[in-house]
Amino acid sequence: MHDVIVVGGGYAGMAAALQLLRARRTVLVIDAGQRRNRFASHSHGFLGQDGVDPAKIAAIARRQLEAYPTLTWADGGVATASGSKDDFSVAMENGEVHAARRLLFATGVSDRLPAVPGLAERWGRTVFHCPYCHGYELDRGRIGVIAAGPMSIHQAQLLPEWGAVTFLTNDAVSLEAEARQNLARRGVAIEETPVERIEDDADVRLADGRRLPFAGLFIASRCAPRPRSPNRWAAR
Ligand SMILES: Cc1cc2nc3c(=O)[nH]c(=O)nc-3n(C[C@H](O)[C@H](O)[C@H](O)COP(=O)(O)OP(=O)(O)OC[C@H]3O[C@@H](n4cnc5c(N)ncnc54)[C@H](O)[C@@H]3O)c2cc1C
Repeated sequence: MHDVIVVGGGYAGMAAALQLLRARRTVLVIDAGQRRNRFASHSHGFLGQDGVDPAKIAAIARRQLEAYPTLTWADGGVATASGSKDDFSVAMENGEVHAARRLLFATGVSDRLPAVPGLAERWGRTVFHCPYCHGYELDRGRIGVIAAGPMSIHQAQLLPEWGAVTFLTNDAVSLEAEARQNLARRGVAIEETPVERIEDDADVRLADGRRLPFAGLFIASRCAPRPRSPNRWAAR
């Protein structure tokens, strides 16, 4: 019987585990290894770790946790959890069952992207959601914001701090007069021809054949809690 099982050994799960280990608890971390930012080669805006490969940050954190003798780490997915205070049971997808007095879920979220050909392959490389994480590196170049819903209007208004912005509505939003005025006030160009696909680094091929070159693209991805079984994750 462990004191705590932490489901999800990403940054949040490991941070929680660290404090529990330092409080002399026995901790089992179970992790399916699907960190949200696993598509990005560099992480930014995290003090002391700016520009570092996020996989390296996670590996160092895990190594530091493993120095505590009361840590157990299990690679794999949790399929079900049941029980109540002081008597929880967790079943892994590989059939292992573990018991703990407390459960802590740090399973993160997954990102759902619009079904534009070429977008998903570039996620985390030239297609992003967070300008604070990846906007600076675009060097004030041309930025395309591909609409995924009404929140994308806000994203397009935010991004001019990082470069010249074109808002591609892609049939995902209709712009009222007030939204058009707000975008114009921020110097955002509007393109209402649907997007056909993404080409090369981040260029957009439109349905009418035109090609718009960009240094990077942004999407307000839809975040959803992870589905229960990691094997069923279809989203990025
Ligand atoms: C492309 C991209 C780039 C990013 N760049 C940056 C950046 O530069 N700087 C920055 O600060 N933030 C960045 N982020 C945000 C950052 O990735 C998240 O804030 C961070 O990953 C959240 O940590 P977390 O521990 O909550 O979740 P995650 O890192 O997603 O970890 C959750 C863990 O739980 C595991 N898990 C889930 N369900 C189960 C289960 N049933 N059984 C076992 N394990 C399970 C997963 O496999 C995963 O390992 C970026 C995000 C994306 C998408």
